[in-house]
Amino acid sequence: MQRPTSSLLEEIEDSPSNDSVRIWGLSGAGFVLRCKDDVIYIDPWLVPPDVKRTTHRTYPIPFAPGKVTRGNAVISTHEHEDHCNVATVKGIVESSGAIFVGPKSAVNKVVGGGLPESKTVTVAPGSFVSISHSFKLRALEAQDPYEPLAVVILIESERGNILHSGDTSYFSGFREIGEKYEVKVALLNFGKQIPTPEKPYYMNAEKVAMAARDLRAKIVVPMHWNLWQETREDPRPIEPILKSMSPESKFIIVEGGELLQI
Ligand SMILES: [Zn+2]
Repeated sequence: MQRPTSSLLEEIEDSPSNDSVRIWGLSGAGFVLRCKDDVIYIDPWLVPPDVKRTTHRTYPIPFAPGKVTRGNAVISTHEHEDHCNVATVKGIVESSGAIFVGPKSAVNKVVGGGLPESKTVTVAPGSFVSISHSFKLRALEAQDPYEPLAVVILIESERGNILHSGDTSYFSGFREIGEKYEVKVALLNFGKQIPTPEKPYYMNAEKVAMAARDLRAKIVVPMHWNLWQETREDPRPIEPILKSMSPESKFIIVEGGELLQI
């Protein structure tokens, strides 16, 4: 991991092309992946939250969506605002020519917000989309208690597969994914156990470690914990639990603006 030396967007778009897969954190569930000159955004949220929201953003917006010039796809795991924001999606699609990929509810949301349907690809568990030379996408089953159409995303690349959990709870599907696919990097949601411990928005440390074990993930990156003041949770206690449950998994924290290279 290394800190960006220039502005984050300049680093993403203007740094020399190479064959590795670079994964930048945007904070929350947002990530940008680049391999060669192919760039994809997963669950970016690049606008100030609605003032009526009861949750408050902790990490500043790294750049405006309309400034993005490189983008093959913007992907949303589900239609919730912090994973699928119309202004963010439209901004990136219009300024870069990217396509939008998401489940039906997310596509309906962005099309309802004015994005041409021709710029969208609807996915459901089992879908496969060839996004670019460097990135292919598989939509997999999720179990998000707050969004029935949510999907887990597996991005396939020459450097290995990158899994983005969206806001799924821990469920048996992780084991099925781990048996079927190699997972090099698992981006797994993590946060405070609210609104209730029985039905939290995010996984706790133990569930993250269990998911990593089931996925046989080589690298585990907790995400989402740094988005809201109200659900902010220190991810470091995951590491010892992960070490006992999944000793092969390497634990890496990627803050907003930081880079993980594989
Ligand atoms: Zn979320």
